[in-house]
Amino acid sequence: MASARDWLDRIRRLPLPPRVRIMNVCGGHERSITMAGIRGALPHAIELIPGPGCPVCVCPEEDVYQAIQLALNEDVTLVAFGDMLRVPVNAPKKDPRSLEQAKAAGADIRPIASPVEAVRLAQANPDRAIVFFAAGFETTTAPVAAMLAEGVPSNLSVLLSGRLTWPAVAMLLDSETPGFDALVAPGHVSTVMGPEEWRFVVEKHRIPAAVAGFTPESLLAAMYSTLRQLIEGRPFLDNCYPEVVRPGGNPTARAHLARTLDVVDANWRGVGIIPRSGFAIKETLAGHDARRRFPSYEDPSRKRAGQMPPGCDCARVVLGKIYPNECVLYGRACTPRHPIGPCMVSDEGACRIWWAAGVRE
Ligand code: SF4
Repeated sequence: MASARDWLDRIRRLPLPPRVRIMNVCGGHERSITMAGIRGALPHAIELIPGPGCPVCVCPEEDVYQAIQLALNEDVTLVAFGDMLRVPVNAPKKDPRSLEQAKAAGADIRPIASPVEAVRLAQANPDRAIVFFAAGFETTTAPVAAMLAEGVPSNLSVLLSGRLTWPAVAMLLDSETPGFDALVAPGHVSTVMGPEEWRFVVEKHRIPAAVAGFTPESLLAAMYSTLRQLIEGRPFLDNCYPEVVRPGGNPTARAHLARTLDVVDANWRGVGIIPRSGFAIKETLAGHDARRRFPSYEDPSRKRAGQMPPGCDCARVVLGKIYPNECVLYGRACTPRHPIGPCMVSDEGACRIWWAAGVRE
């Protein structure tokens, strides 16, 4: 396997056009790129653009609000992945504006790291309703689907905010200004769903694409592949993570997803509805669907595009339209200690990743 330095040398020897924009759609990729200093090591012609790779950032504001209200007003224990707890919503100053603040106000809210913990909690407390607020892309939603498929205690329900990544990329490519010339496709998502999900990028849009893993070597190999495809005018879907990503993905995980969840139109925070980009729990599992069990906390009036906090440019960051440090609040009003928007909260948010890597202006 070639080293990162080898791949960098190969990229530097390519006859590059004056400007090439390569988008990634995975918070893990963005973290590896930023922490390894790959941006600064590449020729100036190459721009690396973080795209829609943070599920917490795009989780609709009304879903977070619903989780907060449910936890405050029902006799339940609400569990969620840790970084969701600090995601802010728009609410009057006197009201809790995040799950963390709702917890401080007395709601029983607990962070968990996996669906197994939610099941264990439900088993240990059979007389108490447990609600699992599960936001994530395919990689995180697949274990939730497996949990539902294998059978869960009757006192456990799921407030699901699952999203599929490829429809967001399709939406960008169908727009008049996609904003990128090549795609580094997400390794973990491809592990579950199969690399074939990204074929439309090359077949329909003639945009070079390569699936990458999370090491600098794998990411640089994928970038080199897309650059060569671009230069040679020969786009194809490359797999630069073959040790993990297999044709067809993970058949068991896909079967669990198909058995328990429907694919539906879904709202992305600050972006709006993207067709067939969300997961919803099937009717047959209605007893485990928190949206059906606690319908009164669904507030359709909150369903609107542009629900980022005032002044927060997170939606444009998520869509790769601006870099994190181009938001006027970055590092000023908005820091990880005092986040304004979800992109500064989540470990997969581009703003937080850039800040953690020392980008200060
Ligand atoms: Fe939103 Fe903060 Fe990022 Fe600006 S820096 S886009 S306010 S999360």
